[in-house]
Amino acid sequence: MKLFQLTAYLEERFPLNLQEDYDNSGLQLGDPSMEITRVLVALDCTEAIVEEAIETGSNVILVHHPILFKGIKRIGVSTEIERILRQCIKHDIAIYAIHTNLDNHIDGVNAKIAETIGLTQCCVLQPKQHTLFKLVVYTPVDSEERVHEAVCAAGAGNIGNYYNCGYATLGTGTFTPNEKANPTIGEAHVPTRLQEAKMEYILEKNNIGAVLAAMKAAHPYEEVAYDLIALENSNTQVGSGMIGQLPAPMDELEFLSHLKQAFNCGVIRYTALQQKPIRTVALCGGAGSFLLAQAIQQHADIFISGDFKYHEFFGAENKIVIADIGHYESEQYTSALLVEIIREKFPTFAVQLTVNNTNPINFL
Ligand SMILES: [Zn+2]
Repeated sequence: MKLFQLTAYLEERFPLNLQEDYDNSGLQLGDPSMEITRVLVALDCTEAIVEEAIETGSNVILVHHPILFKGIKRIGVSTEIERILRQCIKHDIAIYAIHTNLDNHIDGVNAKIAETIGLTQCCVLQPKQHTLFKLVVYTPVDSEERVHEAVCAAGAGNIGNYYNCGYATLGTGTFTPNEKANPTIGEAHVPTRLQEAKMEYILEKNNIGAVLAAMKAAHPYEEVAYDLIALENSNTQVGSGMIGQLPAPMDELEFLSHLKQAFNCGVIRYTALQQKPIRTVALCGGAGSFLLAQAIQQHADIFISGDFKYHEFFGAENKIVIADIGHYESEQYTSALLVEIIREKFPTFAVQLTVNNTNPINFL
């Protein structure tokens, strides 16, 4: 298999344009046309991971956290990043990072955390804005069905758990071809009026290219009249964090011990207990303090994340319990998720989970 076959699949599942502006997900190092032998999956790319890749004959390292995040000025030996890059180039090992595009996906990092805790009825905690567009296309009535099927098959018309959603109204289209036109209906400089359907669909930003191509291929006109409009609607399928329900309410301390065990935490830092059972749980893998207000607003009993700073804990304000379980701990099952995702598509390809724990933090 070629590297680009793997990365194209990952990017189809978790499009790169779902990543945050500050991020650098995608291929970090390597030739897309290279033949790949084995993929090693880890949360972080460290020197130990590169050694493991060399030992196991893996020529792709798939990680959650990008190794190239800020500009680097030289590739010497003075920092771990430089040494990793040198080793990988020497051994022709590719590095691919799948970071906030996996965080922001409804089946990504946070879904894995929710599954580990055992939550049900999960939704995105802070749905992303500016990812949805509306397509309006005008077509002769007898082509309506064909265009509808084509744009929906290409990914338009999905709203939550519903697909093939569209809306059509009938009206009168007018146009006049010039002498260079090759019209399906009408002739040069003769005004034409006919009944047309105005069809409307919602679509995601990353599907625009495919949907427009499918629409044009299915449409009978030489020149297709359409509008593509950016929407302010939130996308409930994409965004930060997750919120869900425990199958049965749990005592606060009992729930915290359950968390400690499920995520092998050296320590959990938490704010004042609220003396009421935990039922609604908000969470965000990694550094999620920016979502605290959302978690409170949605009446979560507890907010689970990592990397909370001292002053940020005061934000609980006796409205919620903050539980900082650690950045690595919260995201550790992401690697297993990535292995599962690759095996779904390439069941016989060699992909393996690292045996290294890349957490740089120890507890006494
Ligand atoms: Zn992280």
